[in-house]
Amino acid sequence: TRFPEYRGRFAPSPTGPLHLGSLYTALAGFLAARSRGGAWFLRIDDLDPPRCVPGAADHIQRSLDALGLHWDGSVLYQSQRLDAYAAALDRLRAAGRVYACTCSRKALAAYAAGVYPGFCRARIGPPPPAAHALRVRVQGGILAFADALQGRIAQHLETEVGDFILYRRDRVYAYHLATVLDDAAQGITEVLRGIDLMDSTPRQIHLERLLGLPAKTYAHIPILVDAHTGQKLSKQNFAPAAATAEPGRLLFHLLGLLKQAPPAGLAGAAAAEILEWAVRHWEARRLSASTSIAVDARRFQP
Ligand code: GLU
Ligand code: ZN
Repeated sequence: TRFPEYRGRFAPSPTGPLHLGSLYTALAGFLAARSRGGAWFLRIDDLDPPRCVPGAADHIQRSLDALGLHWDGSVLYQSQRLDAYAAALDRLRAAGRVYACTCSRKALAAYAAGVYPGFCRARIGPPPPAAHALRVRVQGGILAFADALQGRIAQHLETEVGDFILYRRDRVYAYHLATVLDDAAQGITEVLRGIDLMDSTPRQIHLERLLGLPAKTYAHIPILVDAHTGQKLSKQNFAPAAATAEPGRLLFHLLGLLKQAPPAGLAGAAAAEILEWAVRHWEARRLSASTSIAVDARRFQP
């Protein structure tokens, strides 16, 4: 297959309806792709059943549709991809890159902020019968990448992260594994997402290399924070669903938050016209080096 030059994606977790912060990321991804004549895909990150809310995936699609953010092809559901994840894990296991870890949360609590100390690294032979997680070995040395907006980002996986989990003891595939496999399956060339996920990127690049998957570029955009509390707009902080009843107004507002400086004359225009303007004028660079944008989230509450 031949892919267009640019292929992006939006990958929400269906843990609730889209709030302003997720729509912000969706719009940026859509514009980055369409402004380059590229493709834009939708993936539903529904790996973790207890966290998924029934109806949320449909609600997400309706919100995107209401704004005119139409994606290409069919929606990819991570819950339908378990065989692909299992096959990749088998490959890593056969290559000796993965090992079973039986450490309890309690046993690890005493160790430095989430960095796995490698207790089970030396385990050889078949996995233990008791509940266990599977971890992938990381390498020493710095893993760095050039973020399109944030510049050079470097992480020392061994001392900052440690061997990380690919398969949880509750039998759920880890986000990092699913993400790199799905990005490859969808032929993604650039990952555009919130800066809160930026410290996941070196782990994902590590996996991508181990699995022999194609490299991508990255653009980590600022996250929206509540102007009153300074907290990230997120489900955890009870950000309300964004009202999409007036899609033109919402898009205009989001473009301002994306620092695209839409002309005042566009304010009352229809959604399609605003999007058309935005595709023609998209300049990702206006987001360079910002990490958060304050917003009055109550303005777009239903
Ligand atoms: N599903 C993740 C989230 O909603 C995003 C994954 C990604 O963009 O890599 O935060
Ligand atoms: Zn362990």
